[in-house]
Amino acid sequence: MSNQWIYLDHAFVRKEEAVVSVYDHGFLYGDGVFEGIRVYSGNIFKLDEHLKRLYQSAQSIMLEIPYTKEELQQIIIETIRKNELDTAYIRLVVSRGQGNLGLDPASCARPRLVVIAEALSLFPKELYQRGLSLGSVATRRNRPDVLSPQVKSLNYLNNILVKLEANQAGVDEALMLNDQGYVTEGSADNIFIVKNKKIVTPPVYLGALEGITRNAIIDLARTLNYEVVEAPFTRHDVYVADEVFLTGTAVEVIAAVQVDGRKIGEGIPGDVTNHLLAAFREIVTRDGVPCYTDAGQANVG
Ligand code: PMP
Repeated sequence: MSNQWIYLDHAFVRKEEAVVSVYDHGFLYGDGVFEGIRVYSGNIFKLDEHLKRLYQSAQSIMLEIPYTKEELQQIIIETIRKNELDTAYIRLVVSRGQGNLGLDPASCARPRLVVIAEALSLFPKELYQRGLSLGSVATRRNRPDVLSPQVKSLNYLNNILVKLEANQAGVDEALMLNDQGYVTEGSADNIFIVKNKKIVTPPVYLGALEGITRNAIIDLARTLNYEVVEAPFTRHDVYVADEVFLTGTAVEVIAAVQVDGRKIGEGIPGDVTNHLLAAFREIVTRDGVPCYTDAGQANVG
């Protein structure tokens, strides 16, 4: 038996016993929502923002989460404590729950909650020093009027298909365009370009998830006196950028130094990217909801 505890519905169970029904519509249809959250030195980074996004995703797909935000916060903190974690990755999943084989969610009696907390395996340092290669892929980002990228749903096939394409092309990450050819995001991260010190990221309505890290970086860059704008751009703008970087809970801030075979800037992570990564790592250890003091219990947003 492992000593990892998973919160499943109403109780903590051991990892080996944390199993759900094959009739769960999360499994059958990808019907559900999720969040990936990070814990730095016992502090949960941007927990309020993650919970807000989870509830908005749920609202959008008419899934009623059977917990309040305050209850969810307590469950997350308890999961971290029970696993005695300090630096961790949290996966929060709310599925439509168990139903019959029909796709109608009406057969599902109650949404199912899963909270997984694991020690974080950090991305290798070399990747941050070297930077990633990106490749634009043929598969377009889901159109917002078909399946909105704003909904962080369990249906990640669009993202998985582009990841497969990136793997086939031998690049580290996919660059996703929308149906009009505008740049949207990576398979699991937001994109920024830097030109003449000005930082640009696509508006989310073009077809990107509103990343928590994205928003944190926009705020941080502005406090560091960079000009940051949300504006549409094409692959050409990426090819001729001085710097390109991606943001996400998993990658934090990471440079992309090659895009569709074009070298970006000097072909190494640029000054703005390095500056933002260093500044980001300072705020993540400082900010956040503490798990191991009573402040964490009271600090409910
Ligand atoms: N876009 C997609 C499609 C993602 O899955 C993620 C990861 N959640 C992101 C962007 C980055 O979002 P965040 O900074 O909230 O992790």
